[in-house]
Amino acid sequence: TGLVVAVDGPGGSGKSTVSREIARRLGLRYLDTGAMYRAITQVALERRIDIEDPSAVAEVAERTVLTVGTDPDRPSIAVDGDNVDEQIRTRAVTNAVSAVAAVSAVRSRLVAQQREIIAESLAAGGIVVEGRDIGSVVAPDAPVKVFLTASTEVRALRRSRQLGEKGVDDVARTLAELDRRDALDSTRTADPLSVPDGAIVLDSSALSVPEVVDEVLRQSQH
Ligand code: C5P
Repeated sequence: TGLVVAVDGPGGSGKSTVSREIARRLGLRYLDTGAMYRAITQVALERRIDIEDPSAVAEVAERTVLTVGTDPDRPSIAVDGDNVDEQIRTRAVTNAVSAVAAVSAVRSRLVAQQREIIAESLAAGGIVVEGRDIGSVVAPDAPVKVFLTASTEVRALRRSRQLGEKGVDDVARTLAELDRRDALDSTRTADPLSVPDGAIVLDSSALSVPEVVDEVLRQSQH
């Protein structure tokens, strides 16, 4: 029947690294739902759509075909057949994505596709799905739910390192942007970021990736 592991949490909490490692250890597929919101945002920015216009943004989501690869060693995403793995990680996309993700019509379309991907993966053993609303909306029946957190400072440092930044000013700017995105993601009307019922809540600030993964696997065996 297959296992679904739902991993939620804010940016920089270590969700992606931890989710991919859980998938590898358990031999499961891996789905990064944030990449899907990012891909729609990338298309909207490229087409110079006003991202504060919900109906224009919804139309972009309706007309765009996303293809998502679920190999934890090689996750990938394509827009109308073109790979956009790099384009979706730019600062411009990161700072615009919360507005796009706040549009209900975008969410319902992406959630439907995410459920299809989950259903298809079950025959192959199951899937680890990471995002902001997985344990609450996308897969509320998932037998294992994880909510990862970390202090804002640790999350900003991780993000900064991923972006290849070195200076104190860069970290401060990244922290401010992260704070803003957290605020938008937690206060929007449509499926705000929240701790799902029954989730294992872990603060990864002082833990290594293997420590977090061990703790999740330990707690999910009861
Ligand atoms: O996880 P990542 O930082 O790539 O997510 C990018 C953005 O996509 C989040 O800030 C949030 O606005 C949105 N998102 C969401 N629901 C999800 C996954 C991501 O709203 N399940």
